[in-house]
Amino acid sequence: MNLEMTLASFRTCIRDMEGYVSGEQPPAGKFIKLNTNENPYPPSPKVSLAIQEAAMRGLHLYPDPNATPFRLRAADLWGLTPDHFLCGNGSDDLLTIITRSFVGEGEKLRMPFPSYVLYRSLADLQNGFAEEIPFQPDFRLSPEFGAIQPKTKLIFLPNPNSPSGTRISKAELQALVSQLKCPIVIDEAYVDFATEDSIDLVREFSHVIITRTLSKSYALAGLRFGFAIAHPEVVRMLKKVKDSYNCDSLSIAAATAAIDDQAWLAENRSKIISTRSKMTERLRLAGFTVIDSEANFVWCTWPGRSLKPLYEHCKSQRVLVRYMNYAGWGEGLRISVGTDSQVDAALTILESSL
Ligand SMILES: *Cc1c(COP(=O)(O)O)cnc(C)c1O
Repeated sequence: MNLEMTLASFRTCIRDMEGYVSGEQPPAGKFIKLNTNENPYPPSPKVSLAIQEAAMRGLHLYPDPNATPFRLRAADLWGLTPDHFLCGNGSDDLLTIITRSFVGEGEKLRMPFPSYVLYRSLADLQNGFAEEIPFQPDFRLSPEFGAIQPKTKLIFLPNPNSPSGTRISKAELQALVSQLKCPIVIDEAYVDFATEDSIDLVREFSHVIITRTLSKSYALAGLRFGFAIAHPEVVRMLKKVKDSYNCDSLSIAAATAAIDDQAWLAENRSKIISTRSKMTERLRLAGFTVIDSEANFVWCTWPGRSLKPLYEHCKSQRVLVRYMNYAGWGEGLRISVGTDSQVDAALTILESSL
């Protein structure tokens, strides 16, 4: 077979899809990096100790297939049972497992628009359809969001949303979910920076699955660990779809140590939230339209002005922010909340280009 024939052997949906492109990851240290919502602070010091201990215990054996130490600790923390938790290689792994579980060929995966771009790739991989329902201009859900079609098999709702940082209240979610005729994933990647979470909905509704990650609030994006919270019978089904050893011994030990250090999380959260409000004020003063954020980034728009040159100017000055242009919606800059001094330096450069 020549290369052409080999490539033609791929499933059509793989050949046709674009593939998810993540934010730029330049060589460490060269940029002030405010483009992928990483935490600017180091993780709890307990994490590297736990990794060293786990490495000393030996890596010749397979890890616990269900990340049991983590699930035991998590059950305590969130007042659920270990069987409510499913762990993954980052929460992206869980989103993949969940999509593969519910969305078949030709079926629909619903999501709001604009939101996390990966969801669309997950639908493409299934040879399904991404059904993007535009938010209202103020990032509230449109009334038809909960009115599903027969082919809609799953809904993804990031809450807080990316890129907007806005959040749908628990009361509103409760109303949505109680009417819903298909499973819904509430992607709580950023919820530790918000004022309210939705874990209670899992206790009440078997069709609600919550996903969380240690990448953002626990400052462990390089580790790859996330988890889903759902009814134990739902977890039991999802488990059939995951790789047997989707979390390694080091990440299980590290993630368990990380959630064990809630004092570290609380301090980190308050620093980020305080920088976020200063940043929001300053961007508004500079002339941007900035919607209140409940995440570790802010979404800046400027009606009537093109923002791509601003992104490029920042990049030339070694400041990376995320430029987004959503077809039919418009463009904006999504700027992650860094340390006070990173944000100060970045905004000084941004302001100088206005
Ligand atoms: C960052 C992010 C994730 C993925 O997190 P990982 O655990 O690093 O895979 C999931 N959902 C949203 C909305 C995110 O922004």
